[in-house]
Amino acid sequence: MSAPYFTLPEFKYVKPSSLEEALEILEEHGEEAKIMNGGIGVVAFLKERLMEAEYIVDIKGIPELKKIEYIPGKGLYVGATTTVNELIEFLDKSPEVREKYRALYEASTHLADAILRNRATIVGDILEGLPYMDAPGPALIFEAEMHAVSKSGERWLPVDGIVMGPMMTQLQPNEIVTEILFKEPPEGARSGYVKFASRTEYGIVNVAALVAHPNDPGKRVVKIAFTGATPLPYRAREAEEVFKKPEPFGKLVEEAVRVIQDSVEVLEDPYASADFRKYLMGILTTQLLVKLARGEW
Ligand SMILES: Cc1cc2nc3c(=O)[nH]c(=O)nc-3n(C[C@H](O)[C@H](O)[C@H](O)COP(=O)(O)OP(=O)(O)OC[C@H]3O[C@@H](n4cnc5c(N)ncnc54)[C@H](O)[C@@H]3O)c2cc1C
Repeated sequence: MSAPYFTLPEFKYVKPSSLEEALEILEEHGEEAKIMNGGIGVVAFLKERLMEAEYIVDIKGIPELKKIEYIPGKGLYVGATTTVNELIEFLDKSPEVREKYRALYEASTHLADAILRNRATIVGDILEGLPYMDAPGPALIFEAEMHAVSKSGERWLPVDGIVMGPMMTQLQPNEIVTEILFKEPPEGARSGYVKFASRTEYGIVNVAALVAHPNDPGKRVVKIAFTGATPLPYRAREAEEVFKKPEPFGKLVEEAVRVIQDSVEVLEDPYASADFRKYLMGILTTQLLVKLARGEW
């Protein structure tokens, strides 16, 4: 008897060479066609029979989906088929851009391992929708948006809210994401990323945070996002509001952490209990925010 995990179901594999061609296929076959990018999530879900497809549409042959461009004042544009390693390589060669998007860089270098990062894409990592992914946290603190196109038009969708569960998103079956925009961070911002995990495994708690002008309440900006701890990527907006108060930054960190721990819906699974995750969220968030504020991160 064969184990379903090791076998792929039958499907028709198509590899369009233009966006127009890909959109035609999606329009014609609707729910029966599924987009494959790096394919890491898609192949695993197909093998485990968690996903069905009559057509697998491999988008890696579409030239305009491969790009990385930083436009000052607007942000960092990353094409849908750009791999995590290609992004890391770009940021390694552009130290100024890397400093602006430090949390994205750190999350990328901690995502799986070097072999997987050669195939995995930032867009695919977010859209796969598992709770433990590394790319969504930085996307939330940089208020990222995805550009989706179909035969009937185009739109920009905020990454916050785009994922509804594993392989479930707000995208329509006939839409392709062409690129993601990580918006320009506020002036004077520093950002960072902490992943609590065993070796290259998924994180139990991942924290992305951004801090600008910590000691000037009038200009202070703080953004915090979690993955790994929560069923869906979670931007801690209520906790961010705490930093609008005129009190010293350090005191507000304590209050913000209490707000997160009291309000958030936390995962409980064989990797970690909900209580341990909440404890880690407190410790890791405090450490990251304080270090960012002191300029030590
Ligand atoms: C051993 C192992 C370890 C891993 N460790 C980590 C880890 O530490 N951290 C982490 O974050 N991830 C980890 N992963 C997950 C892996 O990084 C993701 O599966 C991968 O990033 C998904 O990207 P992809 O390009 O392969 O997407 P695909 O699998 O091709 O696609 C994922 C989903 O997104 C949709 N999609 C993709 N691109 C588009 C598009 N342009 N338009 C519309 N829909 C699209 C697909 O239809 C599918 O639903 C691990 C995976 C494995 C196997």
